[in-house]
Order: sequence, then C-alpha cells, then structure tokens
Amino acid sequence: MHNVPGTVWFVGAGPGDPDLITVKGRSLIERAGAILVAGSLVDDAATRWAPDGCAVADSKGMTLDEIVAWLIDAAGRHETVVRLQTGDPTLYGALVEMARPLEAAGIVVKAVPGVSSAMASACAAMEALTLPEVTQTVILTRVAGRTPMPPGESLAELAAHKTTLCLYLSATLGATIREELLAAGWEADAPVVVVHKATWPDEERVLRTTVACLPATLKNEKISGQAMIIVSPTLGARHWPTLATSKLYDPGFSHRFRKGETA
Ligand code: SAH
Repeated sequence: MHNVPGTVWFVGAGPGDPDLITVKGRSLIERAGAILVAGSLVDDAATRWAPDGCAVADSKGMTLDEIVAWLIDAAGRHETVVRLQTGDPTLYGALVEMARPLEAAGIVVKAVPGVSSAMASACAAMEALTLPEVTQTVILTRVAGRTPMPPGESLAELAAHKTTLCLYLSATLGATIREELLAAGWEADAPVVVVHKATWPDEERVLRTTVACLPATLKNEKISGQAMIIVSPTLGARHWPTLATSKLYDPGFSHRFRKGETA
C-alpha cells in the first residue's frame, strides 16, 4: 500500500509476436505491480517479463465497469499498473472509455504506443501502404457490424478516394466489403490482401485475393476474427514492370543531408 495512487499505463502489446512490444512497454511490465491483459487477444507470452509476485489477470470475461474497478483497486496498491492492449491502444481499444473513470478517480493514466495490426500485416505481406504517385494516404477503418459507422464514413464513401484501406474488425463481412468497394468504383479484379494472425508464431497466414473473390476467400479459408484486410492500389508493386521512385533517393534531388547532381 502507498499513499498516492499508482499510474495506470495503457500499453500496446503489438499484434501477437511478443518481441514486437516496445522497449518502453517491456520495461513497464518489468516493474509492474499488477497487469490486466486483454486475454482474448493478447498472447500471454507478453506477460513473460512480469516480476515475481506481480498480479496478472485476464479481462476477457469482464465488463468495462469491472475492468475499471480492477484497475482502480490495483492503482491503490501498486505504483505501476499496466493494462496490456492488443496492437496500438489508440485504435478500437476502448482507451477513452477506460481512461475517463480512472481520471475521475484521481488516477494518472498514460499510454504507450504499439505496433498496430495494419502495419504488421503490411510487413507480413511485404507490401508498402504508400507509394509515390500511386497513393500517399492510408485510411484505417472498418465496416459496420454491431457498431454502426458514423455519417460520411461508409466504406463506399471512404473507398471512393482510391487510397490504401486497412479494414479492422471486418473479416466476417466480406460480402459487404465487396459490395461497397464495387459501388465506390474499384475493379472486381483489384487485388486484396488478407492477413490472419499477423506475426503470431506458426499461425500467420497471408492470403492474396481480389475484390470479387474476397467473400469466398474468407469463407473457404475459415477466416473469422484476427484478420486484417488491406485494399490498396499499391498491392503487388514489387512485381510491377515499372515504378515511380521516391524523390528522396533521386540522384537529382537535393535535401538537408545530400546535394543533388545537376544535369
Ligand atoms: N488495437 C488493435 C486493434 C484491435 S481491434 C491494433 O492496433 O491492431 C481487433 C482487430 O484488429 C481484429 O478484428 C483484426 O482486424 C485486427 N487484428 C488484431 N491483431 C491482428 C493480427 N495479429 N493480425 C491481423 N489482424 C489483427
């Protein structure tokens, strides 16, 4: 017990491979008095660095109120409390819903970023999310499931920009995704990458399909949760015959660290 409540740290655990937590996240785990893991999603291995005697609990059967009560109680006992979240804690992780009641209880809350599954999935597929003169924008989104999409954020509207789209929480909604992409003007044979359990040791699967075949691929490969769907005009660029290259490495381009050649 100590007089001042401890700090609750929302730490991004990364997408699955325990090595993908940040050094800062790991050192917080190493000095944590209590850790609450999002058990259904975060590999238990992420708690392998917890000190002896650290209270480790799994929130998978808890409601939001129960999670908050657990964290408040832990902060009353320990200086460092860690809430381990999958991927990055700022994306689809109820960060604000948990932080508000903790702050109202006088507890300091802080967050540490993590590798989000969109980035892990792009790396698994060896694809770039941006390419010069192809797209310079990435939209992180989802399609409506039980959580409705706010006005203006339907996939058909977002996809009309023809940028890279990373779809979270949408692996059971292949038919909707296809319908909305086609409505936005994507070609039926445009490439799509699905990454199931990106970076999970022995479980990662990278599937290549098309807009038209996406629902069948998800069904045949039995993909339901834990999958990232990437739709992008950059996909497959490693095999294109020609590519516009980045200005940064162009011999004629000057910048702070290199003087370009003059013709
Ligand atoms: N905060 C997390 C996202 C949580 S929402 C992040 O930044 O990644 C859960 C969704 O994330 C899943 O439905 C899936 O779309 C995606 N996801 C999480 N881990 C994944 C992984 N290892 N591989 C592919 N997708 C994953």
